[in-house]
Amino acid sequence: MNINKIKTRILYVVATPIGNIKDITYRAIHILKTVQLIAAEDTRHTQNLLNHFNITTKMISLHKYNEHKITNKIIFLLNTKNIALVSNAGTPAIHDPGYILIHACHKENITVIPIPGPCALIAALSASGLPGDNFYYKGFLPKTTLSRKKILLHIQNIKETIIFYESCHRILYSIQDIVSYLGENRIIVLVKEITKIWERIKYGKAVDILTWLKKDDLRQKGEMVIIISGMNNHNNIIPIKVQRTLSILIKTLKMKQAIQLTALIHKIHKNQIYNYAIKKFLHDKK
Ligand code: SAM
Repeated sequence: MNINKIKTRILYVVATPIGNIKDITYRAIHILKTVQLIAAEDTRHTQNLLNHFNITTKMISLHKYNEHKITNKIIFLLNTKNIALVSNAGTPAIHDPGYILIHACHKENITVIPIPGPCALIAALSASGLPGDNFYYKGFLPKTTLSRKKILLHIQNIKETIIFYESCHRILYSIQDIVSYLGENRIIVLVKEITKIWERIKYGKAVDILTWLKKDDLRQKGEMVIIISGMNNHNNIIPIKVQRTLSILIKTLKMKQAIQLTALIHKIHKNQIYNYAIKKFLHDKK
């Protein structure tokens, strides 16, 4: 393809680095240099990138708070200009502003061209060692405990690899909830600070990742992606201590009560032991 031939009425969706500034493609630099305008999530942030590559293209701000308002203006400008859309880091519109504008472009028959590059969730998945042929990406885990519980219970039985973006402020709570609702044996890959100095990939059981994080506050810092193994026979093993409690309680209590009490004693969610209990004890209890 001849990348020098610039047509009009094109919105380029340009991925930018998620840490290491060298992770930008030749094509991305070329497009950012040759378009007439760049729509940036934070113009001051993007200015650093432009300075680094001697790009002098003018910018307009498009962030999540003005996206609705600015979209009409950009659509109008696209009549005479080609415009590149960038976010602060990674691929625009992937949990970043952009989709409203892109949607409007399609409706107005304006050509949209992606300029592929870094994306934290894809980079993390690619290095996770978990199946990447089928995955479930759910953005950020919710901020409140109750909403987090709801999402985790909703996804607890899905077999696909699960991906969440996470903030350093909530990582401990989120991993704690994963232990509680998906089980301490669920395999997690915590992928931190991709392409940066403190890059770290920690693979292990949910309970071990929690212990690792608690050991050193610095481990809770930085940008991170949580990759969770889908439900399978290996990660749904009920710990021996839980099995023991359940088998003692079930002798004197009804199944439902025994499950509830076991869950309470071991601070885990009852759903985690429900299937195990049904398989193991339903026959005896009949
Ligand atoms: N559009 C971006 C992309 O393509 O990756 C994602 C934007 S989202 C608002 C920001 C989140 O992505 C961060 O909170 C973190 O969960 C994840 N993230 C971004 N950069 C990262 C990095 N270098 N290492 C690990 N996670 C990162």
